[in-house]
Amino acid sequence: MIWERTVPILVYHRIGEPAGDHVPTVTPESFERQLVWMAKRHYRVIGLAEVVEKLRRGAPIPPRHLVMTFDDGYEETATIAAPLLRRFEFPATVFVTPNEIGLPGFMTWEQVRAIGHEGIAIGSHTLHHTYLPLASEEAVELELVESKRVLEQELGQTVDWLSYPVGGYTPQAQAVAEAAGYRAACTTNRGVRRRNDDLFALRRIKMTERDQYPLSLWVKLSGYYDLFRRFEHPY
Ligand SMILES: [Zn+2]
Repeated sequence: MIWERTVPILVYHRIGEPAGDHVPTVTPESFERQLVWMAKRHYRVIGLAEVVEKLRRGAPIPPRHLVMTFDDGYEETATIAAPLLRRFEFPATVFVTPNEIGLPGFMTWEQVRAIGHEGIAIGSHTLHHTYLPLASEEAVELELVESKRVLEQELGQTVDWLSYPVGGYTPQAQAVAEAAGYRAACTTNRGVRRRNDDLFALRRIKMTERDQYPLSLWVKLSGYYDLFRRFEHPY
């Protein structure tokens, strides 16, 4: 049904000062205002586990529920975003790329471990931030299986969630993700189904500095944002 409400799954990238690069950035002030806005209106931030459990049962997710995710593992995820999330007691999932951990601008393993122990779920964003539709089947397998293994070994906890770099996926990538033991995988605005109930292609809403305006934020959190945006093909 076209008018069906879906739980908003937000995706942030960098929370920090704009660096003039291509990374979607939300300033710390805007981010904090968004969290205040959500808290004042009694939005309930839930984890991917709750969404997946409800989707599996076909159970409705009530209004004013939302999910927060962060891609790429920028340093500010640990230094700016995590402390704010803790203050509001909002859970989140952070998708990291093992090969980029410790590089300039990215979190170190110590930082990833620290936020992982503070109620933030760590997910995989592949081993090398690989655009999967252009990778060979063997490479897709390596990116999804090996990143999960490395993260689990380094963090000492199960890695249940995957986010496809740039949102790109194929039916093979979805099958490999499921076989590798992920419980769900997130994309961007890519998809073929109207309903957002494909566990291995959960669509997310990209958050930008423009969402400092209440109307924009309200539309994105309404559960009807899918009506206003264009879907892209998965690959
Ligand atoms: Zn990314």
